[in-house]
Amino acid sequence: MTEKNVAEILKTDTVLQEVHVKGWVRTFRSNRFIALNDGSTIKNIQCVIDFENTDENTLKRITTGAAIAVNGTVVESQGRGQTVEIQVSEIEILGDSNPDEYPIQPKKHSFEFLRENAHLRMRTNTFSAVMRVRSKLSFAVHKYFQENGFNYVNTPIITGSDAEGAGEMFRVTNFEDNKAPLTEDGKIDYSKDFFGKETNLTVSGQLEAETFAMSLGKAYTFGPTFRAENSNTTRHLAEFWMIEPEVAFMDLDGNMDLAEDFIKSVINDVLENCKDDLAFLDQRLTQEEKSKPQAQRSEMSLLEKLKFVVKNNFKRVSYTEAIDILRNSKPNKKKKFQFPITDWGADLQSEHERFLVEKHFKCPVILFDYPANIKAFYMRLNDDGKTVRAMDVLFPGIGEIVGGSQREERYDVLVEKMKALDIEEQELWWYLDLRKYGTAVHSGFGLGFERLVQFTTGMSNIRDVIPFPRTPQNAEF
Ligand code: ATP
Ligand code: MG
Ligand code: MG
Ligand code: MG
Repeated sequence: MTEKNVAEILKTDTVLQEVHVKGWVRTFRSNRFIALNDGSTIKNIQCVIDFENTDENTLKRITTGAAIAVNGTVVESQGRGQTVEIQVSEIEILGDSNPDEYPIQPKKHSFEFLRENAHLRMRTNTFSAVMRVRSKLSFAVHKYFQENGFNYVNTPIITGSDAEGAGEMFRVTNFEDNKAPLTEDGKIDYSKDFFGKETNLTVSGQLEAETFAMSLGKAYTFGPTFRAENSNTTRHLAEFWMIEPEVAFMDLDGNMDLAEDFIKSVINDVLENCKDDLAFLDQRLTQEEKSKPQAQRSEMSLLEKLKFVVKNNFKRVSYTEAIDILRNSKPNKKKKFQFPITDWGADLQSEHERFLVEKHFKCPVILFDYPANIKAFYMRLNDDGKTVRAMDVLFPGIGEIVGGSQREERYDVLVEKMKALDIEEQELWWYLDLRKYGTAVHSGFGLGFERLVQFTTGMSNIRDVIPFPRTPQNAEF
């Protein structure tokens, strides 16, 4: 008797083998048929019980959610949609699940309800599929960089630099309020919160990763980042994972090539390695689309979208060109896109971004050369003195998925820009050293991992692609 998981058994071409399987009961019908799932695949295996020879107490304890172990023989199945099933010879209840209390009943639950049960929602088909795809994508991210000569860097989570924070940072505090240092007017002095220093949770590992690019050549971080986003959109979390490559001697064109190649490669990887899960999510999304009014339905299925992205070039367009397009487009008042006309110099809203991607170009878009005043201080100023070598990759259904740039490598220009924004030189002395000693053209970007998972799984809310979403409403567990 060999212990096997469900995925292995379903792949098997040898019937009549004896197996031992453990998992959780999804459903139990007619005192005979258990749909068993162990998380190894979206599919359940049917376990058929010889109920006449199974004692009544055991039968009663086979309930949805219970953990069980079975011994049995793999046989061909007559059931629809399954090639094999297990003829059970022995069953053991490992952990009971009271059917009157178990929250995950075999019925359709709303995603809101499941978010409140984040510790159990992976026991549903949709969430188990999403989390397996997330896991595979994360492996694909490392695989891509490792195979292309990048070094994985762990940048700090607690950081003193707040140059990029723009008021979106969580403070790190290690004192109790009653022992807190006080300011002259008797208020708690939060600038001394971390052993006497001011510290925050990181909003990006970029600046630190740049130090590695300027020594190891190619580096990437892939870690948690935090933003005190007090917004409730379907694309923002207070805690999310960011993928940030930085490369020395690479300009903005190289950066765009890297972003495009990277995204295509990891999506291709999951198309290869998550076939069953993606087929399930494709079906689920198709059903969801059908419930929408015609004008709002997506023209492509999930799988078609993924294949489209992998096969077609992303459209590269300058910010200035994009503004012209937006100014000359008539937003469709009744339907999906309603946005104010935008002036040159304004940051684009996600409606603008989605209009360009979904209506105008009908493919992923890379916008570049943004106005300097809406982008961070470290981006390379163009000769026009007005724009910087920034790029955002925009995706259908999402808007911005990547933000990146060629970095300002000229010491004097960088110092000027910092002055203009009141950023103290002494705060970033170590960053400025990179420009003092052996500076070189270099570039990088940040890709929000959850937005990538959102696109790949077709989930519409970012809270449904991270195990335990952190939002203004939720940080309970
Ligand atoms: P947005 O315009 O959507 O708020 P941003 O321009 O503030 O994003 P960047 O600072 O450019 O974001 O960060 C790089 C990437 O990180 C973004 O392109 C996006 O994919 C992701 N990202 C940013 N903020 C969040 C967030 N709050 N939750 C999840 N992902 C995020
Ligand atoms: Mg933002
Ligand atoms: Mg943005
Ligand atoms: Mg951005």
